[in-house]
Amino acid sequence: MAVTEVRPKPASEDALSVALTQLRAAGRELGLADDLIEYLSRPQRVLSVNFPVKMDDGRLRMFAGYRVQHNFARGPAKGGIRFHPSVTMDEVIALAMWMTWKCAVVDIPYGGAKGGVVVDTKALSLSELERLTRRFATEISLLIGPEKDIPAPDMYTNPQIMAWIMDTYSMHQGYSIPAVVTGKPLEIGGSLGRSAATGRGAVDVLDEYARTKGIRLQGAAAVVQGFGNVGGAAARFLHDLGLKVIGVGDITGALYHEQGLDIPAMLEHRDRYGSIEGYEGGEPISNEELLALPCDVLVPAALENQLTGANADDVKAKIILEGANGPTTPEADEIFRDKGIVVLPDILANAGGVTVSYFEWVQGLERFLWDEEEVNRRLRQKMTRALHEVMEVAEREDVTYRQAAYYLALGRVADAVRIRGIYP
Ligand code: GLU
Repeated sequence: MAVTEVRPKPASEDALSVALTQLRAAGRELGLADDLIEYLSRPQRVLSVNFPVKMDDGRLRMFAGYRVQHNFARGPAKGGIRFHPSVTMDEVIALAMWMTWKCAVVDIPYGGAKGGVVVDTKALSLSELERLTRRFATEISLLIGPEKDIPAPDMYTNPQIMAWIMDTYSMHQGYSIPAVVTGKPLEIGGSLGRSAATGRGAVDVLDEYARTKGIRLQGAAAVVQGFGNVGGAAARFLHDLGLKVIGVGDITGALYHEQGLDIPAMLEHRDRYGSIEGYEGGEPISNEELLALPCDVLVPAALENQLTGANADDVKAKIILEGANGPTTPEADEIFRDKGIVVLPDILANAGGVTVSYFEWVQGLERFLWDEEEVNRRLRQKMTRALHEVMEVAEREDVTYRQAAYYLALGRVADAVRIRGIYP
């Protein structure tokens, strides 16, 4: 049997300390009791699994994975599954916690969950990926279910992977249960508008913020870090709104063009070759240079901990629109506040994905599909309502949008906990 894959040093080993710092600070400021903050700082359930996958060469290889359910006070747990070499249990706990707050900010009836497998999907064949997914789905079927915990895509997982999870779960139950996952392909009960929803929702938030503040976005300069499901869609919607996307980066590198990159051409290149590598319409720059480009809007849409105490001083954007989960550390947040840089925080700005996941789940339970216009209209409604609620709290309390989003979320979750009471 082959040895378990050696885990590289996690890129995001302190995502959990970031999440806990944010929770404790907001909880204290809000006047929540210490015991309630302590309760909310812990995930309700953590499942850690080690499982074998038969590789194409006939050998077995062991993989590690997690499913974390942080909180159920407002409804079934909800959150994606990440396949990434740097996944750790603590990171998945942090991501599950952020899902709880995110669902509360946009006021959808879910708690928070997250899953992850330590794997580099680029090193697997399609059939290895399918066997890994089906075995992981079986391992976590102890926890998941349409009324209990509903997975969805996250980094390096996609609709096909959701289809395998749905099929595996359904095989075990003996009948089709589409509502056990969201982000499915359209052919088996996915929702129109789901794949672009996180990027669309983020740009809806930016657009509404700019309208409210009288900021002109037409011709404004944007920079996007990450060119996957979130960053790619965000770049497209920014481009469609008339912004110049002057910088784009992904795992293979970053490109700059003062007049604006040709985003539709870059998306086509990405879809054909898998990344922006080899695209010739821009000047290559480093990731550090990308984040430090002078621009109006910076969209971190990759991993956690990208904007930290070490580089926040270099950031020259006016607005940061967080497409990723946890891209900004508390130290960077302070620097941005002092510099007057506005942060539209992750738990608000990237909630469009889970919002359309909720619409998909509802359509699945109702067995009635909506058209794309209706999905996008209701998404915009949810995102803009949440933005205005966050802006109102921020103005009333004289705090940042991240603090305000946390106050809203924690208030809603705390109310649900109080009203339900503690069992027994
Ligand atoms: N993975 C996405 C997120 O981080 C979507 C989760 C979902 O749709 O459940 O928000």
